[in-house]
Amino acid sequence: MSDNRKRIMIVDDENINLAILSQILSPEYDLVTAMNGQDALKRAEENQPDLILLDIVMPDINGFDVLRKLKSSDAAKDIPVIIITGRNNADDEEKAFLLGAVDYMTKPFNNTIVMTRVKTHLQMAGQTQAIARLNLEDALTGLPNRHRFDMHIEREWKRAIREKKPLSLLIVDIDRFKAYNDAYGNIQGDELLKAVATVFPKSARRPADLSARISGEEFAVVLPDTVWESALLIAENIRKTIKSTILPTVDGMTQTSVTVSIGLVTKTPRANDKISDFFNWADGSVYEAKRAGRDRIIGKVL
Ligand SMILES: [Mg+2]
Repeated sequence: MSDNRKRIMIVDDENINLAILSQILSPEYDLVTAMNGQDALKRAEENQPDLILLDIVMPDINGFDVLRKLKSSDAAKDIPVIIITGRNNADDEEKAFLLGAVDYMTKPFNNTIVMTRVKTHLQMAGQTQAIARLNLEDALTGLPNRHRFDMHIEREWKRAIREKKPLSLLIVDIDRFKAYNDAYGNIQGDELLKAVATVFPKSARRPADLSARISGEEFAVVLPDTVWESALLIAENIRKTIKSTILPTVDGMTQTSVTVSIGLVTKTPRANDKISDFFNWADGSVYEAKRAGRDRIIGKVL
């Protein structure tokens, strides 16, 4: 994608309809076309259009079946589909909505209606994506949030059971964060959280690793297929890097840095083990580390 133009796929078996819709939409959008159901399914997955206009009556697979297949395809299920048809029929319209279409337009096409509906549905899809992103991301640091962490660790826990592999978890808590906030103010506290957050993805960067902000000053790192010794190295790297991160205060007068306490557990889980026990062990180890004087890693192989 060279610029921000949205991509629309038009699926219709008749050239004249493709030509009319292309003429209406091409000034504002990049277009992909398909003249039968097979091609439509293939191109939807390959080209990832932002919206699909889909004819019902086609010779190979009819539009309803194409719609059904699109909605069961992981790669295409979130693409909004507007049904376009020559049949002005309430049953068809109802069926289209039940199968997951977002709208229904009848031929002959009116330029303004086509443009307006396309624009509206593109906007709505954009908002839905933004909300989905917000629901998985911590707004301050940009790291995955607690919700995404919960989903990820659940998935990796199950995978570890299936594959009989060790799963490691770090819980990282900033030491004396409240005192820091009181001394330098909330804005500086936020700066500190942002600076600390950048350390995790650099230290745990395999594709299945996940670093998240799970509450105020608490972070977590999920390390799939990682034995205790390797997880400890990563934890130690995180502890040292954060300790050596020097941050100027907002007024530029003072340099500050902080330390973290880390709870670390490793387990090769079995089917009856509980993920909550695993998490609680790591969480409890953080408090042990705090009690033992902070700026350290405590944990065990379960
Ligand atoms: Mg047709």
